[in-house]
Parts: sequence; C-alpha cells; structure tokens
Amino acid sequence: MSKQILKAYEFRLYPNIDQQIFFAKSFGCTRFIWNRMLNDKMEHYKIHKESLKNTPAQYKKEFEWLKEVDSLALANVQLQLQQAFQHFFKRPNVGFPKFKHKGKKDTYTTNNQKGTVAIIGGSIKLPKIGHIKAKIHRKINGLIKSATVSRTPTGKYYVSILVETIAKPFPKTNSNIGIDLGLTDFIVLSDGTKVANPKFLSKLAIKLGKAQKIMSKRSAVAKKANRKLSDSKNYQKQKLKVAQIHEKINNTRKNFLHKTSFNIVKNHDVIAIEDLNVSGMLKNHKLANAIADSSWSTFTTMLTYKADWYGKQIIKIDRWYPSSKTCSGCGHILGKGELKLSDRSWSCPSCHVENDRDINASVNILNEGLRCLKLKEPLVQGS
Ligand SMILES: [Zn+2]
Repeated sequence: MSKQILKAYEFRLYPNIDQQIFFAKSFGCTRFIWNRMLNDKMEHYKIHKESLKNTPAQYKKEFEWLKEVDSLALANVQLQLQQAFQHFFKRPNVGFPKFKHKGKKDTYTTNNQKGTVAIIGGSIKLPKIGHIKAKIHRKINGLIKSATVSRTPTGKYYVSILVETIAKPFPKTNSNIGIDLGLTDFIVLSDGTKVANPKFLSKLAIKLGKAQKIMSKRSAVAKKANRKLSDSKNYQKQKLKVAQIHEKINNTRKNFLHKTSFNIVKNHDVIAIEDLNVSGMLKNHKLANAIADSSWSTFTTMLTYKADWYGKQIIKIDRWYPSSKTCSGCGHILGKGELKLSDRSWSCPSCHVENDRDINASVNILNEGLRCLKLKEPLVQGS
C-alpha cells in the first residue's frame, strides 16, 4: 500500500548581502523570542506555580524590531518551545528546555501558505524575503509544508524543504538479512557482505584530530597572554578549520549512511538488527571509532523510517542476545572469557566449524530476528 509521508529535501542557498542581513535578523529574533518566552515562563512559574501561556505577538509592542522578520518564524518558535516542554514532561531525562546561544545553531522555520514557499528555476521563494539563489540539485515531488533556513558554523546557508508526498512500496525480494555492527567494518551482513567505513572518513578523522590539537594549543596561548578567544585571530582561524572538517565529515557520513540504508531496504524484506544503546556503549577513545559509533544510531534511524516508507520490516533484537558468542552452525555458546575482543574468528569446540566473528554474529541476528517475528505473527493475525 502506498503511504503518505513527510520527506525533507536540503538545498544550498546563496543569499546576497541584503538577504544575509535578513537571515541574521531572523536567526536573532527567533533566538530572542525563544529565550524571552522561556525565561518568562520560568519566572511566572516560580511566583504563581502555574504555566504561563505567552505568545510571540505579545512581545511585538515592546520589541518593535520583531515585526521586521517573518511572523511565521516566531509562531514556529512558540510551537517548538511547546514541544520541548512536552518532551521534557514525557521523558524528564531529555532535559529541561535550554536557552539558545548565538552562532551555535542559527536556524528558523517558516510555513508554506498557498505558494509562499516555492522552488522557481534556480531559486527558492520564501515569505517576506522573496527569491534566493539556490542550487536545486534534485526535483521535489509533493506538497511543500515548511522551510527551515540554517547557517552552518562555516557560514554556509541551507534550506530544508519539508514535503508531503506519497511513498510507493518497493517490490518484495524474498530476501531477509541480519546486520551486525562490525568491529573493523562499518557493518557486516548475514550474506557475508562487509561494508567498510569509507576510507576518506578515517582520513578526515585523522585530519580533525590534528586540527583540534592545534586549536587547543592556540587557545592556551591566548589564555596565557590574557586575551579573549574572540580577539585571537589565530584561534578563530583554526576554529573555522575545525568546523570545516566537521562539516565535511558530517556530509560524507550522511551520504554514505543514506546510500547504505537505502540499498539494504531496497534489497531485503526483513531486516534484523541489534537494538544497541549507543549512549550506553563503551566510550571510544579513538576518534574514527567514535564517529562509527555515532553513525550506528543514525543508520538504524534511517533504516527504520525507510523500511516504514517502502513497506519493509525491521526487527530489533535484544541487545543482550549473545550474537557473537553463539555458533550459528550448531548453537553452541562460548563461556565467559572464551572470546576476546581481538579474536577475528573462532573455532567452535562443539561442531569444529571456523566462524568469522562478524559474519557469524550477523547470521545469528537474522535467525533470532526471524524467530521473534514468528512469535509475533500469531498475535498480529489474531488481533
Ligand atoms: Zn558449532
């Protein structure tokens, strides 16, 4: 069955000077209204022990310059603040809404009202500002709902266009797959395929490590001379370099994860993965490994929503299931200390088969996933 979905398309923007000023004002106003509304809510609660229902419009009299930006951008701040509070009340461990700082995440969101947001030729039309030159590298299908403009720490502008569209399910392939988070590879599949971490990613990780070292040295030099970091040109230059490498890593990583997850969803019907709690994983001291770890959660998120869009099934298996220590051939489970982290393969003491560590694990993950699926099925049919 086709499915109605929300899909985001990102485009690079090339605003002229006036447009850059408008964006800077918009980022500033949305940050201001967020902080102001949050602060007033907190103060009100302290005194009256009840929540304050404030709106951006209330602040426009006192702060006239708020009228210079898109009013929808301010209205969206109110919504985002509400959502932040809802998240906090539902799951207090996500944390109380925080104040926003300049330059950290410059962004604002506006909505499409009867064509106020549109892609026209090589430009994107936005409310109150008009046409902005953009690199339209792909066609979008569907109804535009909203647009989020952002500026990266290196000064690049992007717009993310959220579109309501229809996803058609992929044809069934009659192939099921188990995925293991590899130790040296990014992932290992139960059909024996090993998907390596892209080589340029580890090169960039080394480059990032070096650049960060220089940055902290320059910060130390400035502090010794009693200079503010904002006044140290050397430090600022290096900070920009670090941000540039970060951006490069994020972009390459995102492309790689999109491609990899898309191919898996396209080629398999049932996809079994481990339900790893990444925040609870051992802290990795090697930068490249840390990047790989954070990739895993993004990857499973992508797999999950793509499977949902395209009519495929994801099964997450218990993270305590001993996928590495179990022989996929005979079911023998190794005892404590019998499998070291450095063992790339192991010989089964029971059936004497030589198991490749990661492939064996992914086969177990698939089998366990299919077993869980069978347990679930009667319930689905009975309901
Ligand atoms: Zn065995």
